[in-house]
Amino acid sequence: MAGIRTVLIIDSNKEDRTKVAVFLEEYYNVMESASIVEAYSILDSNAGRVAAVILDITPDMQYGEELLRFMKRNEYLSRIPVIMTAITESEETEISALSTGASDFLYKPYSPVIVKKRLDNIINLSENASMASDLQKDHLTGVYSEEVFCQKVARILEENPSAEYAIIYSDIENFGLIKDLFGENAGNNILVYMARVFKHFISKDELCGRLEADHFVLFLKYNKEMLNENLESVVKIINDFPVSMNIMLRFGVYKIEDRAMPVPAMFGRAVLTVDTIKGKYGQYVAYYDKKIWEKQVHEQEIVGCMEDALEEKQFMVYFQPKYDLGSERVAGAEALVRWQHPVKGFMNPAEFIPLFEKNGFITELDKYVWDTACGYVESWIKNGYPVVPISVNVSRTDIYNPDFIEIILGIIHKHNLEPEHIHLEITETAYTDNPEQIIEVVRQLKLIGFVIEMDDFGSGYSSLNMLNELPIDILKLDMGFVQGDMGTNSNNILSFIIGLAKWMDYAVVAEGIETEEQIQMLRNMDCNFVQGYYYAKPMPPEEFEAYMLRHNVLDKIDEISSDGLYGLKFKKSQGVMLIVDDLALNRKILSTSFASYFQIVEKENGAEALEYIKENYNNIDVIMLDLVMPVMDGFTLMRHLGVDERYKKIPVIVTSQGGEKSVEKSFALGATDFVEKPYNLRIILHRVQNVVMASRK
Ligand code: C2E
Ligand code: CA
Ligand code: CA
Repeated sequence: MAGIRTVLIIDSNKEDRTKVAVFLEEYYNVMESASIVEAYSILDSNAGRVAAVILDITPDMQYGEELLRFMKRNEYLSRIPVIMTAITESEETEISALSTGASDFLYKPYSPVIVKKRLDNIINLSENASMASDLQKDHLTGVYSEEVFCQKVARILEENPSAEYAIIYSDIENFGLIKDLFGENAGNNILVYMARVFKHFISKDELCGRLEADHFVLFLKYNKEMLNENLESVVKIINDFPVSMNIMLRFGVYKIEDRAMPVPAMFGRAVLTVDTIKGKYGQYVAYYDKKIWEKQVHEQEIVGCMEDALEEKQFMVYFQPKYDLGSERVAGAEALVRWQHPVKGFMNPAEFIPLFEKNGFITELDKYVWDTACGYVESWIKNGYPVVPISVNVSRTDIYNPDFIEIILGIIHKHNLEPEHIHLEITETAYTDNPEQIIEVVRQLKLIGFVIEMDDFGSGYSSLNMLNELPIDILKLDMGFVQGDMGTNSNNILSFIIGLAKWMDYAVVAEGIETEEQIQMLRNMDCNFVQGYYYAKPMPPEEFEAYMLRHNVLDKIDEISSDGLYGLKFKKSQGVMLIVDDLALNRKILSTSFASYFQIVEKENGAEALEYIKENYNNIDVIMLDLVMPVMDGFTLMRHLGVDERYKKIPVIVTSQGGEKSVEKSFALGATDFVEKPYNLRIILHRVQNVVMASRK
């Protein structure tokens, strides 16, 4: 309140009034009133402007005190300090005035200098007090701000050592949704209404405060029965608020046991408590108990050892296959983290990921998981194993990291992979947080070549309207749809969403498939991919490798053979295809692919192959030759063949890891063609076809 203050002088004695007014005019804007009756109307029209009142109660003390009482009852006038003046000294009058609410008392005759000093003081005081009370209150709702709430709780606890109290934390589960549907204003109105309801239930030495968003805290005397009753009423009353949606209000109650605990830590306990009933229909109050305490301790332990765990490589990456429902083949796999803790044992991500998402450690862990997963893919490619795209989970914290794209690209390049090898699973809720930023990052990721899957689709809510703006490729349905968590309507919703996704040209993955019936249903709905225990659980990398070898390779070969070998033009011959490779898997791929066109003979090394060639050279149509083998490698075998005219005319297709040197050397030693591993079967088929047809001419 900067600038000149206004002072109102009420005095029926003109001389006295003028004397003070003239003196004060140098410092204040002075208003004068000759009668108390007139003063009412001046105050009424200048309530917000008057900084102080000098009220003379001679000759009629009664009217003066009445005016003072009137001022104290009014919300605005009550803040204006009043100095009372009188002619006759009377202790009784003075006490009565002060107890009615006067700030000070002066007897005439007084010196204007003293009046000014007293005025300055009380104005200062009242302005400071009103500023403080503004700061103490939450602007929107008028309840205490967090800081003041904490201070007051601490004080009341100290002053009432034997009374029992509780901290109650409130949470509206669907507050975000309400705001989205009905607007920010409606949200604010609900909060104001709630604060009013809470205040109504609060008595002396009890408090209400607001922390942030829809979270209020109450500090109440502890009486479980009354508390339950009151909270039940609160829920009912708040649901009377005119908004066409249930307000899902929940309370977490922490009965204060440890009074020395910092108040925010008490909130923390109440928050943990309310979290235990999140999403539980019909439950609106929970009490802090031993189980929650143990969980809290467990969580603290986890956070305490996470960094060492990462360093000591206690985290492992498991893989869970995804199936193409059309072909029943493995179409990809999701990388899922596990924690092998030296004391706590094997832990699933539900135990630690939410914690890491809260404390930010998830970005470190995710980097590790991506790096590890990419390392496996790299090794599979090197070994010539079948490779499918691997999906990794990306937390929303990751996306907000400005270095995210650089980090993930760095990992891809470090392992000599391409973005196409990796799918990124981003949970739906990430898109609802800060849509513009996420959409921009995802757009860039897509441009770079990553395939983007929206994870847990349907668990949030804004998704349907946002779908057409999102740069994604695949929708991964929330497990709840398939498992029927959405009630009897699950199937309808499911088929609607799949239809919608198809219409928008997204592929759909259904997760959590556990039964044959679910598969049937999804097949009928034309869902593209499934992932679930029915087919396979997440498994350690070695197991996944073996699994892929068993399933996918054979599948791939089937696919190609059923395709009529991509229209291979030559007829089945009685001739032999000699496959020389030390790896059974490689031999298997070739033998199965060409079984209907040649007689297949497999040898594990150059020496055995040479034996066979010596006996059967007349009947061999083509040799598929690996370079690196124990006993006798491919180059050595070719050297043997090159020195004998009988063997020289048999076409040799070198199948190897590649590298310019090997290619050159192979041709120099008489190879007819060279095919790089990992096998691209289309290429091999054409090479074989060309080579064999040319040699038959
Ligand atoms: P999510 O991304 O939705 O992963 C799918 C979860 O469903 C996995 O749980 C998987 O094991 C489980 N699941 C798969 N099929 C079935 C089934 O048929 N029935 C049932 N009941 N469950 C099935 P998991 O591995 O425990 O992971 C839980 C969540 O933890 C994941 O949910 C994901 O959000 C998070 N998570 C896991 N690994 C990582 C990671 O490396 N980084 C990040 N940021 N989050 C991860
Ligand atoms: Ca996922
Ligand atoms: Ca999921």
